[in-house]
Amino acid sequence: MLNALLLYCRAGFEKECAGEIHEQAGALEVAGYLKAEPNSGFVVFTPYDPASVAALYSRLRFSELIFARQLIFVLPLLNGLSPTDRITPLLTAARSLAEGYSQIFLETADTNAAKALSVFVRKFAGPFEHAARHAGLIGDTGNRSAPRLHLFFFDSTAAYVGLSKPGNSSPWLMGIPRLKLLRSAPSRSALKLEEAFLTFLGDEPENLRPGMSAVDLGAAPGGWSWQLARRSIRVTAVDNGPMDKELLDSGLVEHLRADGFRYRPGKPVDWLVCDMVEQPARIAALVARWLAEGDCRHAIFNLKLPMKKRFDEAKRCRKIIEEILNAAKVPCRLGFKQLYHDREEITGYLTRAIA
Ligand code: SAM
Repeated sequence: MLNALLLYCRAGFEKECAGEIHEQAGALEVAGYLKAEPNSGFVVFTPYDPASVAALYSRLRFSELIFARQLIFVLPLLNGLSPTDRITPLLTAARSLAEGYSQIFLETADTNAAKALSVFVRKFAGPFEHAARHAGLIGDTGNRSAPRLHLFFFDSTAAYVGLSKPGNSSPWLMGIPRLKLLRSAPSRSALKLEEAFLTFLGDEPENLRPGMSAVDLGAAPGGWSWQLARRSIRVTAVDNGPMDKELLDSGLVEHLRADGFRYRPGKPVDWLVCDMVEQPARIAALVARWLAEGDCRHAIFNLKLPMKKRFDEAKRCRKIIEEILNAAKVPCRLGFKQLYHDREEITGYLTRAIA
C-alpha cells in the first residue's frame, strides 16, 4: 500500500521543499513526518495515517509546489534487492500498485553523489522495461492517462517503487527537461525561459503566438529576447548592458538603454519577461503593477532568492502580487516553480484570468 510521498528537488533546497509539502498537506488536514537530508536532492513525507495518502493523491496539486521537481506516491522502501534477481521483487511491487502504466522511469537523485549509481540504473533500465512489457505492465502504445511507474534507486540494492499521475507531475525523467542550447542563443539563460514556457504554458500554448509583442526587462545579452524573437514575437529589450549583435540584426528586437523599473511601453504589450538581478519583492511588485495597470497580459519573471528563509521570501512575493492585483480588481493566475535551469532562484508566471 502506498504510504509516502517522494519529492525531487534541487540539491540544497530540501528544507524549502519539506516546508512546502508540510504546509500543503497540512492545508488538506494531513499530518506526517519528513525526511529531508541536506543536499540529498529529495524529500520523503510520510503521513501518520497511511489512509490519507489517497486523499493527497487526488487533492494535492503538483503545480502549486514551488520547490518540487517531481511528485511520486511510493511504497515503503524496498531493501535488500539481490544482484542475482532485482527484477522479480520490483515487478511484484509495481503490479501491486496498478494494472498498467503509461511509462516507466528509473531514476536517482540529481546529485554528484548519485552519478555513479545512475550508470547502473541506465544499464538496468533495458532489462527491467523488457520484463515489465512481458508482464503486461506496459503496452506498446502506452495508455497516456495510466499512471507512470517510478523506481527511485538509493543504491543498487534499495529503491522506492511508486507512481505519478500524468497531468499532476512532471512529464520528464527525474523531473528534468533535456533542452539543447542552440549555438545562436546569446546566453545560457535562454534555457530558463524555454523551460518556463514548457512548464507554465503546456496547457495554453495559444498564449504565445507569432505576431505578439513583448518587453524584456534586464535583457542583456539577450537569451530571453532570443527565445521570443525565434517565435516571431517583437521584443523591446530594456537593459543598460550590450545586446547580442546578431539578435539585433534579426530586426525583431529593439534595444533600449533604460532603467527597467522606470520603463513602460507606449501601448500595452502581450508579454512582459523580466530577469533583472534585484530584490525579489521589488520585482514581484513591478510585475504585478504591469498587469494591474494593463501594460501586459502575461508575465514570466525570475526571482533571485536570498540565502536564508527562501520559502518565506517566495510566499512574501506571492502576497505582494496578490495584494496589488486584488486592490486593482484584476483577476490573474499566479504560479511559481523552481525550474531545473534555475539556481538560487524561482520563476513566476502571471497571467490575466479570462473574465
Ligand atoms: N535574461 C538575460 C539573458 O537571457 O541573456 C540575462 C539577464 S542578466 C541575469 C540580468 C540583467 O539585468 C543584466 O544584464 C543587468 O544589466 C540587468 N539589470 C539589472 N538591473 C536593471 C535595471 N534596473 N534596469 C535594466 N536592466 C537591469
